[in-house]
Amino acid sequence: MLPDNLSALQLRDKIRAGEISSRKATDAVLARIEARESKVGAYLSLFAEQARSQAAEVDRKVQAGEPVGALAGVPVALKDNMCTHFGATTCASKMLEHFHAPYNAHVVEQLFQADAVILGKTNMDEFAMGSSTENSGLKETFNPWDATRVTGGSSGGSAAAVAARMCCAALGSDTGGSIRQPASFCGVVGLKPTYGRVSRYGLVAYGSSLDQIGPLTLDVPDAALMLNIIAGHDARDSTSVSEDMAPKEDYLARLEEPVEELKIGIVREFFEGEGLDVQVKTAVEKAIAAYKDMGAILVEVPLPHVKYAIAAYYLIATAEASSNLARYDGVHYGHRTANPADYIDVYMSSRAEGFGPEVKRRIMLGTYALSAGYYDAYYLRALKVRNLIRRDFENAFQQVDCLICPTAPEPPFKRGAKTADPLTMYLTDVYTIAINLAGIPGLSMPCGFTEDKLPIGMQILSQPFSEAKLLRIARMYERATDWHMKQPNL
Ligand code: GLN
Repeated sequence: MLPDNLSALQLRDKIRAGEISSRKATDAVLARIEARESKVGAYLSLFAEQARSQAAEVDRKVQAGEPVGALAGVPVALKDNMCTHFGATTCASKMLEHFHAPYNAHVVEQLFQADAVILGKTNMDEFAMGSSTENSGLKETFNPWDATRVTGGSSGGSAAAVAARMCCAALGSDTGGSIRQPASFCGVVGLKPTYGRVSRYGLVAYGSSLDQIGPLTLDVPDAALMLNIIAGHDARDSTSVSEDMAPKEDYLARLEEPVEELKIGIVREFFEGEGLDVQVKTAVEKAIAAYKDMGAILVEVPLPHVKYAIAAYYLIATAEASSNLARYDGVHYGHRTANPADYIDVYMSSRAEGFGPEVKRRIMLGTYALSAGYYDAYYLRALKVRNLIRRDFENAFQQVDCLICPTAPEPPFKRGAKTADPLTMYLTDVYTIAINLAGIPGLSMPCGFTEDKLPIGMQILSQPFSEAKLLRIARMYERATDWHMKQPNL
C-alpha cells in the first residue's frame, strides 16, 4: 500500500532506492482514482495503460542501475490546456472536445525527461476562464473537503486531484490566480512562477502576457522539485527568460535554510476590505505572527494602485483572449457546425455552438476594448495601470523580502453561489490578479481551516525570479506547522 501522505519527493526517493516499484505506486494511485473519482470529478482523461508501461520502464531502469530522472516513476497529472500528442487536449471546451495536439508542450517534454508517469489530464474552467471550475463545458468537479463546495479555478481539477491523492503532483496554469486560488480552496500548495520562468510552448493561450504554468503539490519541497523540472529557457517561447538574464536555480538545494533577517511586507488594505472573511483574516494573521515568532520583521508597505487590478485585468486578459481565441472557428481549429447555411455560417454557428457563455462574454468584452474608438480609453489605459501596479511592487520589494496576504477573500464557496453573477465571481481574485499583471511569483499554501473544516490558504509574493527565496520562506512556515499533512475524508 502507498501511504496517502507520501510526498512526490519521498516517493521518488523510495523508487530510486528500489524500496517500492513505480508500477506498484502507479497502480495504487490508479486504484484511488477508481475509488474516489466519482466523488471528485477531477479528470477529463486517463492514460492508465500508458502510465503503467511508463512505470514499468522506470522500474527496469532502476533495476538495471541506469540513471533515472528527477521525478522517477512518480505519477502526475496535467491540466487539460497543455498539449500532449497522446489523448485529447480539450481546455474543457466543447470547441476542442475532439482536438488531438500534434506535439507535446515544453513542460510535458520536461516531465517525460524527468521520468515522471503521466496519469491523465484534469478538468478546468473552459479555456481557463473562471474561478470555480464551474465553467467547464465537459464535467463537474467537487471540492474533496466538501462536495457542496467549489474547488476554485481554473485549475480546479489539478488541485482536487492532488488534495484527493489521485496524483502525487500536478501542473496548472495561472493567468489571474488559477493555480493559487484552487490550491487555497483544496488545501494544497500552488506556485505561480515569475512570468518567463517556465516556457508556455504548448500551453493553449488565454492571456498570453499573463499566463504561466506552475505546480500544485502536497508540500513546498514538492513544489521546488516540480519547478526544478519545468523551469528554464526554451527558445520556442519568445518570452521565456534567457539563462544570462535569470539563470535557473536548484530550488531544492537550500530549501531547508531559513531566510535570515526576513522582512515581511504587510499591505494594510488587504486586511481591511469588507469582503474578507473573518476566519480567513484570522488564519493569515496567525501565520504572520508565527513568522514574527521566528524572528521576522513586519513592515507596512503601500500598494496604492492594486485596487485597480481587477478592472485592468478584465480589459487586458479579455483583449488578449479575443485575439487568441479567434483561431477556433471550425476551419483552423475546433468544432465545426454540422449543416451550415453558407460559409459565413460555418464561422458563426461553429463558434456559437463550441464556446460556453463565459468564453463568449470575454471574447465580446475584449473585442470591444480593442475596437477603434475604445482602444485608447480602455485597453491603453489598462496597460498604463498595469505599469503603475508593477511599480508598486518594485517599490515594496526595495524594503521587504516578501509580502504575505490571503490567497482568496473567503473559504471555498458553495457550488452555484456565484454562477448567476459573473462580477461576484471575478471578485474572488482580488488578491491574486495583481501578481500576474506585475509578472512576479506567488505561492499559496495551507494556513488553517474554518470551523466547517474548509481549507484556508495564504499567499506569499516575492521579486521576479526569486522563487528560490520564496520557497524557502514558505518552507519555514511549513516546517513549523502541519496543515499540509491534513487530508480530506473520501
Ligand atoms: N479567475 C480568473 C479569471 O477568471 C483567472 C483565471 C486564470 O488564472 N486562468 O480569469
